[in-house]
Amino acid sequence: MDLRLKDKIAVVTGGSSGIGLATARMLLAEGARVAICGRDPARLAAAAKSLGASANLLAIACDVLDAKQVADMRDRVARQFNGCDILVNNAGQGRVSTFATTTDEQWDEELRLKFFSVIYPTRAFLPLLEKSATPSIVVVNSLLARQPEPHMVATAAARAGIQNLIRSMANEFAPKQIRVNGILLGVVDSGQWSKRYETQKQPGQSKEDWFKQEAAKRHIPLGRFGQPDEPASAIVYLASPLASYITGASLEISGGVSRYA
Ligand code: NDP
Repeated sequence: MDLRLKDKIAVVTGGSSGIGLATARMLLAEGARVAICGRDPARLAAAAKSLGASANLLAIACDVLDAKQVADMRDRVARQFNGCDILVNNAGQGRVSTFATTTDEQWDEELRLKFFSVIYPTRAFLPLLEKSATPSIVVVNSLLARQPEPHMVATAAARAGIQNLIRSMANEFAPKQIRVNGILLGVVDSGQWSKRYETQKQPGQSKEDWFKQEAAKRHIPLGRFGQPDEPASAIVYLASPLASYITGASLEISGGVSRYA
């Protein structure tokens, strides 16, 4: 199937690891020109190397919570690629905390991360998206938005707000033909889960065994964590011109773990 992504220009925030990196790889394979960003220059360089140096790839060190750095990234993309058709707001991470253990400072941090990691890049790239013939935004969100878990209270509350924001942006940008969609993730084996494995494993427990145990604990019907390629293919589809009549939608990618109809 031709996703009609050849020569489209895409920006993937948090493209140096996990789901963002898998998304960048698929977009490049479809012939798109892709800019990725992350804060850690070494991780970014390793990601760029794994994607293969080419004129179609731009790796930019940028903290999406710094509006000036995001504007600079937009200017570089505009200079180098001369536009932007697709913005994937993916950068971020979850916070493990209950209501009792989340301090005011942590609430501030979490709400700021979830909201401004979408607000700053969207605001910065909007003028370029407005000039595109096929503009679209995909926001990587979590199933926690609809189904909070007791050990991720602050993240879940912030994710619910993002779900609402996706709808508002979809409505507000629709007259400009800019589509805005989200994906609702269950659990996907990526950088942040590898870190949790390192800190939570029993002595001698293999990574495979730990992931199996966590999937069973969560009663995931498909019996396993997702792999980064699985949400990436949904992101790439929603971003592509093939999804031209889809906006304001949220696609759940969770191995069937949601409990609502
Ligand atoms: P990874 O940890 O593998 O990747 C996260 C990426 O985001 C890295 O490239 C990281 O690079 C980048 N990043 C984090 N903070 C910033 C920042 N302030 N500015 C720029 N880049 C940043 O995680 P995943 O691939 O799993 O996560 C992708 C998204 O999916 C995240 O938003 C996450 O919260 C969400 N998600 C993931 C789930 C899962 O099970 N994996 C479940 C639900 C949601 P660097 O650290 O160098 O900046």
